[in-house]
Amino acid sequence: MTSSPAVRSWHAALAWLLGPGVQRDVLIEAAGDRFTTVRAGVPPAAAPGAVRLQGLTLPGLANAHSHAFHRALRGITQAGQGTFWTWRERMYQVAEGLDPDSYLALARAVYAEMSLAGVTCVGEFHYLHHGPGGVQYADPNAMGRALLRAAAQAGLRITLLDTCYLAGGLSSEGRPEPLSGPQLRFGDGDARHWADRVEALAPDPHGMLGPHARAGAAIHSVRAVPPGQMHPVVAWTQRYGAPLHAHLSEQRAENEACRAAYGASPAAVLYQAGVLGPRSTMVHATHLTPSDVELLGGSRACACFCPTTEADLADGIGPARALASAGSPLSVGSDSHAVVDLFAEARGIELTQRLATGQRGQFSADDLARAATVAGHACLGWAGAGEIAPGALADLVTVALDTPRLAGATEATALESVVFAATAADVRSVVVGGRDVVRDGRHLLVDDVPAALSAAIRGVLG
Ligand SMILES: [Zn+2]
Repeated sequence: MTSSPAVRSWHAALAWLLGPGVQRDVLIEAAGDRFTTVRAGVPPAAAPGAVRLQGLTLPGLANAHSHAFHRALRGITQAGQGTFWTWRERMYQVAEGLDPDSYLALARAVYAEMSLAGVTCVGEFHYLHHGPGGVQYADPNAMGRALLRAAAQAGLRITLLDTCYLAGGLSSEGRPEPLSGPQLRFGDGDARHWADRVEALAPDPHGMLGPHARAGAAIHSVRAVPPGQMHPVVAWTQRYGAPLHAHLSEQRAENEACRAAYGASPAAVLYQAGVLGPRSTMVHATHLTPSDVELLGGSRACACFCPTTEADLADGIGPARALASAGSPLSVGSDSHAVVDLFAEARGIELTQRLATGQRGQFSADDLARAATVAGHACLGWAGAGEIAPGALADLVTVALDTPRLAGATEATALESVVFAATAADVRSVVVGGRDVVRDGRHLLVDDVPAALSAAIRGVLG
């Protein structure tokens, strides 16, 4: 005997719908984990029994680029001056201390912080695969499985972007350097061994690793994967129709080393290796030439911007407007988790363009909200998520409009208020797949998120 899926309904005072935009009095119904009906203009009295959602309700937010363990560095790396490269040294020190148990505790707390911020799906760019010295755990996917478990315990969906990481960088003469020190934990020897290990995660034919989890792949960067090793990664993603991500041109030094090594830009190297396409996402895409922009846009590769991390690490400002005009969808990620706030990431795309060009209004609030919702989910392989529409996954994020930051918001510009002024602290409730995860600003699965973060970070930093 099969029982029919649970039916739930919500009545949103205001909801942002793809197409019509912000609508008033929206009745939203779901059966199990999918929406069945979405109707605007339904007076509250006509929806008895529906859960009332005050404020502005959005679809679930997708955090398309995360390295969960970087959260332990927040604040610490702000002391002194530093560069991207000194930051990386501190990051390696944190990586050195993690094992599957401590990683589960840390990632669970970090993902719970994300849930509180309205994130319903995370793309975890995962490269910390093996034990100290590169010695495999009894289960070679023990670290990846810890992340899958962490996401389940925090109540969000995950795309595990299992990352191929083979070289420690490119020498000044442009030769791939061997992995050393903490980097040994990242490596699988070669891309075939990478593929064998990922295959042992046993995705189903659609790439699913469980109801809440999907398998994806990543090429860390042209610094870490020689072009001759990229094909097995691309081929593995083709088998499952899985997403394929890569860091692209975050630093000028990467471009210079890549030119010295391969006589082409990182984007051109990835293009020639067959990495660019509608299932691929290029993260940062900061230092691009006009022809790089054409390669990405023409292949419909998504560009994932992480403006708070890019500002934190002094990376630079990527050509977001040019990429979008060339055909690349945009998504956002909190990457190093200098902060976890997708409203800050989304408006960061527009605000950095304003600073770089002296012009406002290159992206509308609607464009930026799409990057944080439907486009983010699509680049993580979750088509049919990130919008409030019949058939889509039943994810809802309600932002209070009566907080100090948003008080005075009007119905006509509620989306603009939220995209340009809300913070993660304004998220009041979160529903993932029809199930409440955050209610009245409280996480229902992780009792005390600050305590969980603090204990996990203390455990890692010692
Ligand atoms: Zn990253």
